[in-house]
Amino acid sequence: MPTPHAPAIRAEAVVDLGAVRANIGMLRRRLSSSTDLMAVVKADAYGHGMHAVARAAVDAGADALGVATLHEAVELAATDPGAPVVGWLWAPGEDPGPALAAGAQLGVSSLDHLAAVLAAGVTSPRIHVKIDTGLGRNGVVPADLEPLLQACRAAESDGRVEIVGLMSHLASADVPGDASVALQKAAFGAACDLAASLDIRPRWRHLANTPATLEHPETHFDLVRCGIGIYGITPVADPAGLRPVMTLRTRVALTKRVPAGHGVSYGLTYRTSGETTLALVPLGYADGIPRHASSCAEVLLGGKRRRIAGRVAMDQFVLDCGDDPVAVGDEVIVFGPGDAGEPTARDWGEACGTIDYEIVTRIGPRVPRVYV
Ligand SMILES: *Cc1c(COP(=O)(O)O)cnc(C)c1O
Repeated sequence: MPTPHAPAIRAEAVVDLGAVRANIGMLRRRLSSSTDLMAVVKADAYGHGMHAVARAAVDAGADALGVATLHEAVELAATDPGAPVVGWLWAPGEDPGPALAAGAQLGVSSLDHLAAVLAAGVTSPRIHVKIDTGLGRNGVVPADLEPLLQACRAAESDGRVEIVGLMSHLASADVPGDASVALQKAAFGAACDLAASLDIRPRWRHLANTPATLEHPETHFDLVRCGIGIYGITPVADPAGLRPVMTLRTRVALTKRVPAGHGVSYGLTYRTSGETTLALVPLGYADGIPRHASSCAEVLLGGKRRRIAGRVAMDQFVLDCGDDPVAVGDEVIVFGPGDAGEPTARDWGEACGTIDYEIVTRIGPRVPRVYV
């Protein structure tokens, strides 16, 4: 029998932009009419493709777009995406000039950040003062906040900067009943009051991520920053009507009949229990399939969930299909919304000892994104 033509696409991540728009609508329903929504599209939109997702998000009414790095901020702001771009993770040793010149707004976490913004020589750069209300990561601690706010206010009075935001980030909004949410909210409220006492009147005070948007309306302030929810993954028990956006699929690259006791993949950690058909799946850890998925995560092939047999290699893994009639070219759904019985990114996160955020974000550049 002649070998069928190899499919043109080895694997693809199908990105449902209609679902992005619908998810933004579902998240928006949780907001009062005075609260804006930022779509967070950092890390290539959590692996979904920054530009396409940003366009869909703005289409669906996102009021701002969030990124982490200066590089992301320049790349997105330069396309004039139709909503302000805010970037918050950079070091004062980097040059914020190109991002500011492209129109991006930047987080300022220290006097050094402010100095770098002022030295960039951009007319009226827009900043968000970033406050560490307890996460212990980026942002100025409350003890050092007043001098930073005073310096920002002085620069604003001179027309050298515009303070458009005050922001902070929650540590545990996804943990039901976690006491830190109220503590961080109170610390953020105090920081906002201090700013107001210095006559700082930002357009946006913002604290909430996706889990806080869904579970903690008291944290919404003027703007919520939603990342994972946009991609249809809910970090809390309430699915909130969100629909997973990414489907990762590929095709069987080779099948073979092997006898009982045949080893499979590196280390021969898996052995066939009887005569069986092995199916080779051309995706591996170079594509973002965690090696931790070895012998535990499942995929859908031929209408059945099948567990990965043995180790995930750099470019491929293997399924033990028994006597089922699997053939080269058959579709393998690695994860998706679950409609056809395929696992979700959540299932993969659980199988691999990580979170669904990491599963979608780590899908590598070798896998083309296909937008529908
Ligand atoms: C990534 C990020 C978000 C988005 O968080 P989700 O849980 O994905 O909604 C919001 N704010 C900041 C500061 C972030 O870094």
